[in-house]
Amino acid sequence: MKDDAPASRVWHPNTQMSEWEQFDSISYGDGVWLIDSEGRRMIDGVASMWCNVWGHSNAELVGAMTEQAQKLPHSSLFNLTHEPAEQLARSLVEMSPGMHRVQYSDSGSAAVEIALKMAFQYWTNEGDNSRCTVASLDRGYHGDTLGAMSVGQIPEFFSKYGQQMFKTVDLPVPVQTVTRGGCSPMDSERRQERCLGEISDTLSRRDDIAALIMESGAQMAGGARIFTSGFQGEVGRICRQNGVLLIVDEVATGFGRLGPMCVYSDEQSKPDIVTYGKMLTGGYLPLAATLATTKIYDAFLGRHDSGRHLFHGHTYSGNPTAAAVANKNLEMYARHNLICHITSKASKTLASHASGMSDIGVVGDVRHKGMMLGLELVADKESMKPVCPAASINHIIYKAGRRRGVYLRTLGNVVMVVPPLAISESELVMLLERTAGAIKDAAPALLHGR
Ligand code: PLP
Repeated sequence: MKDDAPASRVWHPNTQMSEWEQFDSISYGDGVWLIDSEGRRMIDGVASMWCNVWGHSNAELVGAMTEQAQKLPHSSLFNLTHEPAEQLARSLVEMSPGMHRVQYSDSGSAAVEIALKMAFQYWTNEGDNSRCTVASLDRGYHGDTLGAMSVGQIPEFFSKYGQQMFKTVDLPVPVQTVTRGGCSPMDSERRQERCLGEISDTLSRRDDIAALIMESGAQMAGGARIFTSGFQGEVGRICRQNGVLLIVDEVATGFGRLGPMCVYSDEQSKPDIVTYGKMLTGGYLPLAATLATTKIYDAFLGRHDSGRHLFHGHTYSGNPTAAAVANKNLEMYARHNLICHITSKASKTLASHASGMSDIGVVGDVRHKGMMLGLELVADKESMKPVCPAASINHIIYKAGRRRGVYLRTLGNVVMVVPPLAISESELVMLLERTAGAIKDAAPALLHGR
């Protein structure tokens, strides 16, 4: 940083500010590359917080935004509508089996708040005031607002706000481990059975649960934890059996991140409410969506003075510029057959390179699904004791990645590799090689603080 540079006034998200003397300033994006103010290039290894699809500065997406902004940058959905929001809602309903209506917001957290409010009010509208709590899964993550935190179960993130959050019912979750520390298929089956048994017991015993909320396919923020096969579908069945609504959060995992466009459909779970965010606009503008079935939607209909409508709305709900870029993004998914490319090719390239990463000394487990890779850093592979340096793992890995020309961010002791979905084969291989190199470079600091 130049001596005469003005002092930064930015308070960075989820960051111990005292640890960073300065932040690299990104000036341009070019495909999967981020270019800083001094012209240095990094591959975007986290898709700019898991949302980028086609790379940065894509001419078609920028064109769709520009065209819409020249016509109508913003107009609200209060008393009015506009074609970009209408078209997008039609597309989202079409790609989401069982869904009927779409309520927009501007972040995944807000989409989850809406889902929770829909679930709570569904029951009061139906005349049942006893269903006033929510069940959620161990190490689940649904956002950083108070309601979303309440249903999240990652103590490292949320324990500071324990007094302010509402109480939830905590349920266990069976997850796969892929390499060392993994368990046999038999263990995995038994664990799944135990978890499902506990979920079933809890839901049948209690009559105060309005909804169960779960991520779809895997818990990304919980540290790339992939559900055992068949778990999600079974949870849906248990919810239906006990009259509990099912909210499926696809904010991070839908739109091809784990392979399918719509993970819950692949997993044969039948939700009442679904949330989308992150990749909805290809990673260009903030937009999120909460979808509901006819059963949910109809419970909110009535006379204007019945007090049955959903008491929720944001200034920028369904912003037309964001909706227009989302429409273009979806059109590009179809035109480029992106989901097929991911499932038949890109995710296989990722898997084949990822498996070799378990040979790196500090990598204890490698977890992969679709276009997500989690590398768990450990001090000892046998005991799986996590690395625990004096400095933050994230800071060490970021700096090592920076030197190798790759942008990385960790979650606890897990390096998350979450590339832009349409990354080319050669860039994907380069990203994985650079990530492996960065982890090896960082090993002494991770193990011994030097
Ligand atoms: N739900 C899930 C599953 C997420 O992973 C996230 C963010 O990572 C959110 C919700 C919150 O989204 P946002 O950061 O846009 O508020």
